[in-house]
Amino acid sequence: MRTVIIIGSGPAGLTAALYAARANLRPLVIEGLEAGGQLMLTTEVENFPGFRDGIMGPALMAEMRAQAERFGAEFATGNVTSVDLSHRPFVVKLHDAEYQTRALIIATGATARLLGLRSERALMGHGVSTCATCDGYFFRGRPIAVVGGGDSAMEEAIFLSKFASHVTVVHRRNTLRASKIMQDKAFANPKISFEWNSEVEDVTGVDAVDGLVLRNTATGERKRLEIDGLFVAIGHTPNTTLFTGQLDMDANGYIVTHDGTRTSVPGVFACGDVQDHVYRQAVTAAGSGCMAAIDAEKYLEGLPQHLGETEAVAVQSIQPPPRTISPS
Ligand code: NAP
Repeated sequence: MRTVIIIGSGPAGLTAALYAARANLRPLVIEGLEAGGQLMLTTEVENFPGFRDGIMGPALMAEMRAQAERFGAEFATGNVTSVDLSHRPFVVKLHDAEYQTRALIIATGATARLLGLRSERALMGHGVSTCATCDGYFFRGRPIAVVGGGDSAMEEAIFLSKFASHVTVVHRRNTLRASKIMQDKAFANPKISFEWNSEVEDVTGVDAVDGLVLRNTATGERKRLEIDGLFVAIGHTPNTTLFTGQLDMDANGYIVTHDGTRTSVPGVFACGDVQDHVYRQAVTAAGSGCMAAIDAEKYLEGLPQHLGETEAVAVQSIQPPPRTISPS
């Protein structure tokens, strides 16, 4: 039985852990198998306040984790397999453990959709990026490409045109999905051009991106595009499958919050990208993590059985099912 469980260990989850720990709530952070969140996929972070020379994404996450741990946050590693928010205490299950908790903070983030190319993954943080706001500055005066045809892709292309020498938007169809106003802005920008009906077949380069191989979806023709950076802007998927049917979500699957970080179930709070498809920054995620911890603390203060009373912190392990050994 725990007082607060935090699911997720990106900037939102770890900041919630720091604040909850300092409020003596002894939070348990369940860090997934991809602990640290999206910043683990970036190299240098130059826009997190307090680091004027920048800091590597994984180093920033290691610092945040150590800071939360210093104040008593505890960590369990594993992917949550199910949650039950229908009665109190809430139940959180991992494949080999089950916890009960009086308050739950959801900080499971969102995952940037990727093209699924091996080269894209290999060059992530070395010319491939999913965040123009974070990485655009590194491409001053250099040619880059943005893949996608929605509002995100147009927004990123327009933003990146302030730094890059040229921005090529690569889109798999010959019409954009983006809103008319964003399309008009992109079409009117002299630094943006379009490769229509084009799929990225490969990202080339050894230590850094030096180009793309594009395949025309209509003719099958291939061509090379020389660029120094690729921004993948084909949407994000909020990591909310665990909560489907249990919490209010918007049409795109993001958790709906109100009055700060409160969700539709009292005692359950959401922070970071899992409830924010607009700002999606490490610093805004961290800010909302702080809010979630404060909101959870207030909620717990209002419960009849208050902290301070001894609370059993037994972690109930589930016995693994008996193994059946089939004769070979
Ligand atoms: P989106 O609207 O779903 O657009 C994703 C784009 O990526 C589509 O053009 C899609 O192509 C393309 N795509 C998807 N998978 C692909 C793949 N495997 N390979 C190549 N291309 C692929 O996502 P979004 O642009 O991130 O926007 C999400 C939501 O946020 C939308 O409601 C949007 O309006 C909103 N938003 C608003 C603003 C703003 O108003 N300033 C800014 C950003 C986002 P197809 O078109 O062929 O499907």
